[in-house]
Amino acid sequence: MRAIRRFTVRTVLPPSLEGLDELAHNLRWSWHPSTRAVFEELDTAVWEQVGGDPVAFLGALGRERLDELAADASHVARVRAATADLRGYCEQPRWYQRQTAPTMPASIAYFSPEFGVAAALPQYSGGLGVLAGDHLKAASDLGVPVVGVGLLYRAGYFRQALDRSGRQVETYHALDPDGLPLSLLREPDGSPAVVELALPGGRALHAQVWVAQVGRVPLLLLDSDVPANDDAARAVTDRLYGGAGTHRLEQELLLGVGGVRALRTHARLTAGAAPDVFHTNEGHACFLGVERIRELVADGATFATALELVRATTVFTTHTPVPAGIDRFERRDVEQYVDALADSATLPVADVLALGTEDHPGGDPRLFNMAVMGLRLAGRANGVSRLHGRVSREMFAGLWPGFDPQEVPIGSITNGVHAPTWVAPEVTALAARRMTAHDLATGAGWEAGGTIGDRELWELRRRLRSRLVEDARRRVRASWLRRGARPGDLRWVDDALSPDVLTIGFARRVPTYKRLTLMLTDPDRFAALLLDPQRPVQVVVAGKAHPDDEPGKRLVAELVAFADRHDVRHRVVFLPDHDMGMAATLYPGCDVWLNNPLRPLEACGTSGMKVALNGGLNLSVLDGWWDEWHDDDNGWVIPSAGGCDDPDVRDEVEAAGLYDVLEQQVVPTFYDRDSEDVPRRWLAMVRHTLVTLGPKVQATRMVADYVAHLYVPAAAAGAALAADDLAGATALADWRARVHKAWPQVGVDHVDSGGMGPSPQVGDRLHVQAWVALGDLTPDDVQVQVLHGPVGPDDELVELHVTELVLDDTYEADRYGYGGDVELTATGPFGYTVRVVPRHEALTSVASTGLVATAS
Ligand SMILES: *Cc1c(COP(=O)(O)O)cnc(C)c1O
Repeated sequence: MRAIRRFTVRTVLPPSLEGLDELAHNLRWSWHPSTRAVFEELDTAVWEQVGGDPVAFLGALGRERLDELAADASHVARVRAATADLRGYCEQPRWYQRQTAPTMPASIAYFSPEFGVAAALPQYSGGLGVLAGDHLKAASDLGVPVVGVGLLYRAGYFRQALDRSGRQVETYHALDPDGLPLSLLREPDGSPAVVELALPGGRALHAQVWVAQVGRVPLLLLDSDVPANDDAARAVTDRLYGGAGTHRLEQELLLGVGGVRALRTHARLTAGAAPDVFHTNEGHACFLGVERIRELVADGATFATALELVRATTVFTTHTPVPAGIDRFERRDVEQYVDALADSATLPVADVLALGTEDHPGGDPRLFNMAVMGLRLAGRANGVSRLHGRVSREMFAGLWPGFDPQEVPIGSITNGVHAPTWVAPEVTALAARRMTAHDLATGAGWEAGGTIGDRELWELRRRLRSRLVEDARRRVRASWLRRGARPGDLRWVDDALSPDVLTIGFARRVPTYKRLTLMLTDPDRFAALLLDPQRPVQVVVAGKAHPDDEPGKRLVAELVAFADRHDVRHRVVFLPDHDMGMAATLYPGCDVWLNNPLRPLEACGTSGMKVALNGGLNLSVLDGWWDEWHDDDNGWVIPSAGGCDDPDVRDEVEAAGLYDVLEQQVVPTFYDRDSEDVPRRWLAMVRHTLVTLGPKVQATRMVADYVAHLYVPAAAAGAALAADDLAGATALADWRARVHKAWPQVGVDHVDSGGMGPSPQVGDRLHVQAWVALGDLTPDDVQVQVLHGPVGPDDELVELHVTELVLDDTYEADRYGYGGDVELTATGPFGYTVRVVPRHEALTSVASTGLVATAS
């Protein structure tokens, strides 16, 4: 990067067109085609030249041209109408305003290390960021009062190109915030609002705050490239996922700690509500809980009391079962940084370190783990599909020793995608004729897709495929020119791909578990599929490997080398620099979306949902969302060889399964045509997909689930603990301390059972009587439970049933008597055990305290 400092001179708009600035700076245009049309109609040539970016568009129109447009009454009227429509969208009550729970949060802060809102704001690397963008957009559509918090990376994520040999080449482009749809948060005197963090060695980290307006939702992006910082501090927000070690730690401190400070500043300057709930998308932002504790302690609370309130009002969403996907820092680095943040009376370093230290069995106590801290700071945690919830409970079970993995307090909310962003305008138009405006805005009404006729649907599918073919040819040509080809050598590109051939897509980041090159496992068999003279297949592939991921980069090179082969290059293409812009054409254009991760490492995966909403079918390993929602008519399953230990053998088995499904099912169904050349069976699957998956895969469904199951309960819990000067939180902290202190004396002394005949049958009742010691605790502090159910070969409960025992009148020799009946519900080996666990109405799970005493 050269030391040139760039800035953009903002266009001064004629008064009658002033609304354009508001329209360009509210990212609603990215999912609202009629707002984009307002810009396009002003000057189609310039609009195309700037790639449909409204801020760049306004910059490109000269003063004279603007005056000319301002003199045209029809332009002025359209701009006024669009501005009024945007204001109505932002101000009128929506779904959330009609909800009636007693404690609806006034504001929810949503933190994420990356946000994919639009290609014009390149602050994302892949699915995690795009999901965060979709979360904000769906929250906006529903009227949920979310405020997003992230970082503004001055060079975003890298841009990908290919070199002559087909290897990935990375470049970073310095972004100019003034040329992006952002505005700077300012103090009343006009100066930029700044947040500050103390760093070790007496240094300070300052950041200004950019606001991206995402419909109704403000997204605050912290930017450390400010004059008050030294060079190192200026570089903290240089690149997304660019650094390691303390550079990454500084980014995450700025995101979490600085993010809370930015929220406070934003609320002060906009008279906004303070967030009642803090949601962290993955672990990177979990220092937000540390900052909130610091605030409360500075206000007079104890660390323990503050922790109770923070925990009750924090939601943590985990996104990866791949340990390498979780940030872990050197404990001593964290110690140094936390020590610098505040004086030790306000923020006891040892207490903070204890939150993230891997002191559980199998952990590394020298490391500080952001997901571990996330789980200890969040009273509510979730994975992002039903299967991922289960996998996460098993993965983190070590943090709750003594509990069954099924009891680990991590639930799940399956991801969704923002339909107005991801559904092609043509599909929306077709659906819109059958759906109401309200349906379109809330994600409802997809059942109407069932009434679209075959011919209409098939013509639409061909149109979308053609558009992808055109776009792919343009990108392949540009890539080859960059790779050094001469234009005369590229005539073949005009015939690469065909609008009538079965089109399979695969585009996502390239960590090895996603197995970009599984399709190449048997190159001859794959090539035969592509080159079949009657029923050919074509494949469009894209994906960026992280710059430090050498194995991922080798996969890209391998795929490109195959796509370069002269015999197949017209049937398989690799498109460099995958981004949201490319994706918007790719998803609708594909007939089949291929997803072949190593099960169960794909937490959810969302790209296949976007394809489904455009009338594509999924071909996927039973992982993430597909494990939950596939059926026999919405696509195909690639069989997993999960029990196979040898990774190469597993790849071979699963690739063979993939080829089988393609050869025997996908290809024959696509080319099975009636006399009018229409694939009736295929289209029946498409229609079934739209009708049944349509309503489920919506981000509005996802956000409504977060509201009902996490945000509202968290806000209610927080209100109860915060009332009367934190009385509830103080009582809960005191109770927790008392229970921890007394727990060593708690135990199950003796268990009796009876009531069974010599040959028990289903429906019989087993009476269980237990004697428990409670030390200094009373029966109000605990519950006594029988865990029972069918047992496996090692006496483990394969299915967990819990029955609470009731305190009876017997109390003798320091022991309390408890009794109750357990019903036998299944035949076969049966087992049971008795345990004591703490009980408090504010606990969100039986495992929350981590304390349990089990009969020996
Ligand atoms: C949806 C999306 C993803 C997510 O891909 P998955 O592998 O399905 O999780 C990645 N990148 C972009 C640009 C997307 O739009």
